Amino acid sequence: MNVKDQINLLRDELRIHNHNYYVLDEATISDFDFDIKLKQLQDLEEAHPEFYDANSPTLRVGGGITKNFKTIKHDFKMYSLSNSYSKSDLEDWEKRNRKIIDGSVEYVCELKYDGASISLTYENGVLLRAVTRGDGTQGDDVTLNIKTINSVPLKLKGDFPDRFDIRGEIVLPFEGFNNMNKQRILEGEEPYRNPRNTASGSLKLQDSSEVAKRPLECLLYHMVGDKLPIQTQYQSLDLARKLGFKVPAISKLVTTIPEVIKFVEYWDQHRHNLPYEIDGVVIKVNSLFQQEELGHTSKSPRWAIAYKFKAERVSTILNDITYQVGRTGAITPVANLKPVELAGTIVKRASLHNADQIEKLDIRLGDVVFVEKGGEIIPKIVDVSFENRSSASLKTNYITNCPECNSSLTRNEGDAKHFCPNSEHCPPQIGGRIQHFISRKAMNIDGLGSETVTLLVKNGLINNYADLYDLTIDQILPLDRMAEKSAFNLIAGVEASKKIVFERVLFALGIRYVGETVAKKLAKHYKDIEALAIASEEELVNVDEIGEVIAKSVVSFFSSEKNIEIIRQLKQAGIQLKISETELTGQTDILESNVFVVSGIFMKVTRNQLKLLIEKNGGRVVSSISKKTNYVVAGDKMGPSKRIKAENLGITILSEDEFLSMIS
Ligand code: AMP
Ligand code: ZN
Repeated sequence: MNVKDQINLLRDELRIHNHNYYVLDEATISDFDFDIKLKQLQDLEEAHPEFYDANSPTLRVGGGITKNFKTIKHDFKMYSLSNSYSKSDLEDWEKRNRKIIDGSVEYVCELKYDGASISLTYENGVLLRAVTRGDGTQGDDVTLNIKTINSVPLKLKGDFPDRFDIRGEIVLPFEGFNNMNKQRILEGEEPYRNPRNTASGSLKLQDSSEVAKRPLECLLYHMVGDKLPIQTQYQSLDLARKLGFKVPAISKLVTTIPEVIKFVEYWDQHRHNLPYEIDGVVIKVNSLFQQEELGHTSKSPRWAIAYKFKAERVSTILNDITYQVGRTGAITPVANLKPVELAGTIVKRASLHNADQIEKLDIRLGDVVFVEKGGEIIPKIVDVSFENRSSASLKTNYITNCPECNSSLTRNEGDAKHFCPNSEHCPPQIGGRIQHFISRKAMNIDGLGSETVTLLVKNGLINNYADLYDLTIDQILPLDRMAEKSAFNLIAGVEASKKIVFERVLFALGIRYVGETVAKKLAKHYKDIEALAIASEEELVNVDEIGEVIAKSVVSFFSSEKNIEIIRQLKQAGIQLKISETELTGQTDILESNVFVVSGIFMKVTRNQLKLLIEKNGGRVVSSISKKTNYVVAGDKMGPSKRIKAENLGITILSEDEFLSMIS
């Protein structure tokens, strides 16, 4: 077989397995074998760029960057849906329709998937582009990102129309969402709030390989085009399935409104058993001919209507209100409830937001309260029943002092929340800042869990993160439950963190609103902490992507004596407080044009940084291993097939540390 046929064969094979797994939920190959075939294809494609195909399965892993999303006009307008909330709303809808169309009417009931809508255009059987809904007339071109979603076919099967649009919803199923959050919590980051926002945020990420990591799915529900071989909505769902799209089988064809209502009621009750979130049901007139007769209003089709589920709501008793103090000193009131089942889980705590909310609802201890779970993961108190309130009940007085350190709370104009101003001595703030400092994406200090941090703070051994660098074995060994090995690990972890690059140090400092991305921006721009520390608000806002809120926060951080002292301490300890020499001066030739493959998860630098480091030092990075590869830099969880291949070819495998010392 010649190379071209070989490549095409592999592409077809992978496409079929992919479709079976992601669209039909039936695996027909082991992950391991899939990986091997994918690598084979990658190698062949790399060796033969002349057979490049923008829709090859190898492109699922992403890698393309979109700096600015192009605006694209939809060939067919993307309408929104009018809403209904009750049986009688649905009956009214049918009555209005009956005035326009005669004869029997069929309805298709579909789930209303709660995600981000997308329009895919296919031409000659391949994905031409993917565009967000935008304002309905034009949206953003997010093709690179959408290509990484495995359930989106890049090439169609069967007898496809020449050109058409197909609409659907990008969703993030619960399982994947929860896994992403587990990982985030481990890394000391705020968990994402709900699958819908996370899904729609994913579409606009600039780095498509980041999108590829998110377990997104695309569920399709609507085909549009000229002269499509379909007469009904139900047929179009079927056609879409045949072409290789993921179309949930739950859709139902019915002939009466009572049947529609039965479908609605069933899914209102059973929606929690679905793998993804829905927020209602969409009812569509089945016949396309009748659809045309009914037409559209300026905003939505008359032939379809959404039935929105009410957010689930239960009542229970408010036993207590407690107050949490965050790392920034923000106070969050938390309702402690008599446990109650809501949306399939037992709820014991709910958010009360802030003092205004408590005041507005006049929430009191012992009240019967209503708890709702909307799109958000954390349930909230939405109402209070005054009926059963005893005459002895007292108005809730919001705390005036910090529950942890007793300082008087402050509240700035425009802030919804109260703050504990005692950032230096308030224990959860001290602990929280240290916790953030050592977290994985920041200084990544191993061997130091949250209990140990609390212990160290309690024993007065550390009062801020800079104190970590003065800890000695003799100080920590006598602590409760501190084994010798853990003590040494801790010291070693602290020592290792001195190699962490400046941008991550900057993130680790815990300046309010300075997350990972902002830290990167600031590090690149200012290059060292001294320059940043003296930057004025006006200067800061001039930096790309830095707004007023961030600028203010940065200036305020560096205007604190205490913080300046801490930074001095960090400097003395040898922490990277400026961009490294190599980053500054650019190119070296240490790696002498050697070819590198990078695989796995790394501890001290990100994968992208590692690649940049290789290139900066004169090496070349390629994506798959071949005879021409000189080194593989292997992190955690490197794919087994890669390792075997590297070993078979006798390629040197470097650990992260080995690599870093090679260039230092
Ligand atoms: P809304 O955003 O509340 O106006 O609802 C309209 C949106 O529902 C559409 O833009 C689609 O993105 C989404 N949707 C989810 N499931 C369906 C479905 N089965 N049929 C049509 N639209 C749907
Ligand atoms: Zn406090």
